[in-house]
Amino acid sequence: MSKFLHSKYNSLTPYDTSGEIESMNGYIRLNTNESPFEPSIQVFKAAHDAAKGLNFYSDPDCRALAEKLSSMLNVKTSEIIFGNGSDEILNFIFMAFCENGAVFPDITYSFYKILAEFHGVDYVTVPLKNFEICTDDYVNMNRRTIFIANPNAPTGIALKLCDIEKIIAQNPDSLVVIDEAYIDFGGESAKDLIHKYDNLIVTRTFSKSRSMAGARLGFCMTNEELAKDIRDIKNTITPYNINAMTQAAGLAVLNDEDYTQKNIKLIQRIRDNTKNKLREIGFEVLDSSTNFLFVRHETISGEKIFEALKSNKIMIRHFNKPAEISNFNRITIGNAEQMQKMLEVIKEVVTK
Ligand code: PMP
Repeated sequence: MSKFLHSKYNSLTPYDTSGEIESMNGYIRLNTNESPFEPSIQVFKAAHDAAKGLNFYSDPDCRALAEKLSSMLNVKTSEIIFGNGSDEILNFIFMAFCENGAVFPDITYSFYKILAEFHGVDYVTVPLKNFEICTDDYVNMNRRTIFIANPNAPTGIALKLCDIEKIIAQNPDSLVVIDEAYIDFGGESAKDLIHKYDNLIVTRTFSKSRSMAGARLGFCMTNEELAKDIRDIKNTITPYNINAMTQAAGLAVLNDEDYTQKNIKLIQRIRDNTKNKLREIGFEVLDSSTNFLFVRHETISGEKIFEALKSNKIMIRHFNKPAEISNFNRITIGNAEQMQKMLEVIKEVVTK
């Protein structure tokens, strides 16, 4: 820490990207829930063409993208805001709406806690019950903003839409943020409820089902009043947050929806196949509605499995805390060949 750093940043805990950086060195990357499939060929062309206009600033409202999404998702363009990844949208939300604190499950996307701490937001966590979010635990939230990833990460388990609606309806004085980063792989979206309730924001990303994690594109859908608040924050600190190549690439992938749908089906098929194979060799595998599996073996530690895969140049995600998930690993669904290699190494560890 330099002597010039503002004292409020003395104890920052940045998001841990070390495993990700390491895995860029020729590893099979099953640790960050990216897509194993290249972006649509239309994306290459669009990004290439957009590069010709990089002398100009990008459209701060991403109008072409918003219009396309508006017709696909049945929300108005004024109800959509784009972020540099959905992480940026989450950051805007923590800046804008968490004056009365935040609440989220104890086991969920780690970025909520990191952002809460960064913004000095007072937060509480609610324990999962048998790895599931229990709606009855989300009452009397004292105007805290509620963050629910649906499906949840790293468990992969989805809540039913009626349960999501219950959380929204029973907390009219709290804003509810439903993070749908993985919704394309399973579960029911809450997006239509933005027209029924005034306390809901739904976030989404192009990083998973649309194979565009490196382009950094996410968005949220909410009512016009909340959308204006978020837009004002965005336009104050980062008006041109989505670069022109990413805007063009995003539009191109939306125009090639068949490609996305084909990949989603393939991932689901490989996921279910991998789940069955892991169960056959003694793994507990939670029921996943996502592009990853959350697994533990009945006798072999999570760390041992993680290390064995790592020494075979396969990177998965190991969580050493909290204690109740310390034997679990999260495995991103790769292509069939990658899953085959992963299973071969795991089988060797299990049968030794
Ligand atoms: N929400 C959840 C639950 C996630 O797992 C992730 C990705 N790690 C994100 C949001 C952020 O995704 P991105 O910023 O790439 O859109």
